[in-house]
Amino acid sequence: MTSVIPHKKAKALKPGSLRPAKELCSECGLCDTYYIHYVKEACAFLNQQVAELEAQAHGRSRNLDHEDDWYFGVHQEMMAARKKQPIAGAQWTGIVSTIACEMLTRGLVEGVVCVQNTEEDRFQPKPVIATTPEEILAARVNKPTLSPNLSVLEQIEQSGMKRLLVIGVGCQIQALRAVEKELGLEKLYVLGTPCVDNVSREGLQKFLETTSKSPETVVHYEFMQDFRVHFKHEDGSIEKVPFFGLKTNQLKDVFAPSCMSCFDYVNSLADLVVGYMGAPFGWQWIVVRNQTGKEMLELVQDQLDTEPVMSQGDRKQAVQQSIPAYDKAVTLPMWAAKMMGVVIEKIGPKGLEYARFSIDSHFTRNYLYVKRHHPEKLDAHVPEYAKRIVGQYQLPKS
Ligand code: FAD
Ligand code: SF4
Repeated sequence: MTSVIPHKKAKALKPGSLRPAKELCSECGLCDTYYIHYVKEACAFLNQQVAELEAQAHGRSRNLDHEDDWYFGVHQEMMAARKKQPIAGAQWTGIVSTIACEMLTRGLVEGVVCVQNTEEDRFQPKPVIATTPEEILAARVNKPTLSPNLSVLEQIEQSGMKRLLVIGVGCQIQALRAVEKELGLEKLYVLGTPCVDNVSREGLQKFLETTSKSPETVVHYEFMQDFRVHFKHEDGSIEKVPFFGLKTNQLKDVFAPSCMSCFDYVNSLADLVVGYMGAPFGWQWIVVRNQTGKEMLELVQDQLDTEPVMSQGDRKQAVQQSIPAYDKAVTLPMWAAKMMGVVIEKIGPKGLEYARFSIDSHFTRNYLYVKRHHPEKLDAHVPEYAKRIVGQYQLPKS
């Protein structure tokens, strides 16, 4: 008698149908596949299990006696890096795409899960399993929208691939780690980016229209360490809008409920994380979590300039002041916002302290969001490290 693997009996949900995590669903893609069988355990919004999965992926979970572990997760080392020859059109210098290309061309993996965009819409995500460097490069640059990266998981099993690299953000990677053993792989490599304040495609349109002077020509944007949003336009020009001048009253509901309830900004379960916020302006920030991550980074070491990470300033007061400001959706007049941006840039937190600033601001905001909208989930959903981070601040009582 042939045995049927349990997940194969499950049926993917139809596009557009309500997901098990309901409004908290981040559309990670798991429920678009028969791996929906595992959704109750695997979904980051139904079963927060960062500590258990850290132990599985890295051999230990965060050491709660070490503040760096609260913030940056399990890690062997961190550094600032940039490509000596940046990839044109990448989000930053293209370290992520370069690592993926090297892993593929050197035969470490047979395929790379990454996300391109559709032909009709530069911001509409299209997850693929890339098998050529060209396909990896076509996925460069952020799609600043919820992206169902895991929707290609069924194709992996069907393709017979045994060695795979997955590129993704925290919620996708938590679900991936939870079903890793079911994928029939010999080796899974995970290359993560930090992620915060993501939006649905409609939410993105609203954000662009309320914030940029020319929403239709934006090719990418980033919330930068100089406390401004940098929009890059088709003609190469950069438009800078101070954080403090954002129309928070109109933007309050723009971020996806999943991202307003997320406490895995730094992608705790990836082997290697490539972002920017812990590095000086213009550099990328690298967190090596385990030996696999180290091996991945070594493949591109000769293509990178690197520097030790630095930390400067004190974020605490700025974070405390931002809590009621965000809560009351205060918008400063543009001249005041610009002035505040300039002052904060001069004296404000830099390097790892800027990363802590960003983590603190988002975790306090998200803690209040979960407390107000899903009080029954608060205790189990917020990981211990995040409770400690939030516990450093005074929050409004209700
Ligand atoms: P590239 O070589 O351009 O490659 C980008 C890779 O990202 C591609 O392989 C693509 O498959 C993947 N990708 C693109 N969009 C998505 C998506 N929606 N979901 C999953 N994978 C995707 N870093 C910080 O330090 N702080 C932040 O606050 C921060 N916020 C982010 C928010 C979002 C929504 C995203 C997607 C990333 C964010 N990052 C953040 C990471 C950072 O912006 C860069 O992606 C990272 O530094 C890699 O740059 P790169 O030039 O090496 O990437
Ligand atoms: Fe399913 Fe992913 Fe949505 Fe959770 S976040 S309900 S696993 S698609």
